[in-house]
Amino acid sequence: TPRTARLRPLTQPAKLQNVLYEIRGPVAARAAALEAEGHRILKLNIGNPAPFGFEAPDIILQDMIAALPTAQGYSESKGILSARRAVVSRYQDEPGFPDLDVDRVYLGNGVSELIMMTLNALLDPGDEVLVPAPDYPLWTAATSLAGGIPRHYLCDEEDGWNPQVEDIRAKITPRTKALVIINPNNPTGAVYSREVLEQIVELAREHSLLLLADEIYDRIVYDDARHVSVAALAPDLLCLTFNGLSKTYRVAGYRAGWVAITGPTSHARGFLEGVELLASTRLCPNVPAQHAIQVAVSGHQSIEELIRPGGRLAEQRDIAVSMLDSMDGVSCVRPRGALYVFPRLDPEVHEIHDDVQLCLDLLESEKILVVHGTGFNWPTPDHLRVVTLPWGSDLQAALERMGNFLAGYRQ
Ligand code: PLP
Repeated sequence: TPRTARLRPLTQPAKLQNVLYEIRGPVAARAAALEAEGHRILKLNIGNPAPFGFEAPDIILQDMIAALPTAQGYSESKGILSARRAVVSRYQDEPGFPDLDVDRVYLGNGVSELIMMTLNALLDPGDEVLVPAPDYPLWTAATSLAGGIPRHYLCDEEDGWNPQVEDIRAKITPRTKALVIINPNNPTGAVYSREVLEQIVELAREHSLLLLADEIYDRIVYDDARHVSVAALAPDLLCLTFNGLSKTYRVAGYRAGWVAITGPTSHARGFLEGVELLASTRLCPNVPAQHAIQVAVSGHQSIEELIRPGGRLAEQRDIAVSMLDSMDGVSCVRPRGALYVFPRLDPEVHEIHDDVQLCLDLLESEKILVVHGTGFNWPTPDHLRVVTLPWGSDLQAALERMGNFLAGYRQ
């Protein structure tokens, strides 16, 4: 006779209560269900260049393929030495990293894994981390999962989405351990000036905060925008700079990232030992993808052709901004970097009370998938994030449909 086990319910643990990643949340799940029914969905929700015809430089693929036979074993936990050396060379000519030590570079399965490791190595229950609002939501999720409390500082749309330095100051408490800066920013596309960064770094200095600089879009800047690394302004502070291959080299699926640790370390031995420990518990990052790092960072930087005036990414950004600005009750700060627009829906015109519902309705009606602004920890339901990756004609057609939909939409 078949045996029947008495199964204990497996409920969600409390530690996941505040862990959210809405970019792949319920709206994306509904999109997947529609796809399974045979609908074609235009996915403007994920900064994933490859599906939009952005091919990685061939040399990266060839090098990784050639390395496959020798990449069968685990590597050192930090990552292979040649790739870490390549990361050091990549920063050699940039201010802020003159003494970057190859032993202070960790490779990861994307920046994502390194963010998780860092926050787990840093936080005791109740410790606080300053995270921007809006943010790339992994920072909030990883802080919560690590037992910490994310404290969101506001970025000001009317000031080009710059962080409000006074709001950062107001949210510092004796429990604040770290300050996250995402520059160029996802989702807003802001690229912070040296002056703004200097003010933020000064706060970190006054309150002895660890600087966590997510600079994954540092080479994706438009017009006359110039990226300044936080590390360059804070040689006297411990700073972790996160970056990787996903965006600049269009190989998000390979899962290759790094963190470069700069500044004084003698006060942070426990934390750094924790990072080392967690790096060893994940054994090592995907080894073939580590081999892609050296050739990517030291070879021809093809991203430059995509971001200069007339380049594909720059043109698509322009199309998105002008289409959105032409919509009634929609406005958009012109992104100066990254791969997204974060338009505002004027509450006087659109009266959106539930931006998740808006995205679900847009999906059902137009088969276009975008992410609601509150998914980026933005406090009010009046923004959307749209990726600017589709070819200009596709982007234009999609935004035309979105504009028509919004014009007749009421909640
Ligand atoms: N940080 C930011 C700001 C991002 O936008 C992303 C991906 O969209 C990541 C980190 C994660 O990147 P990775 O693919 O290296 O894990």
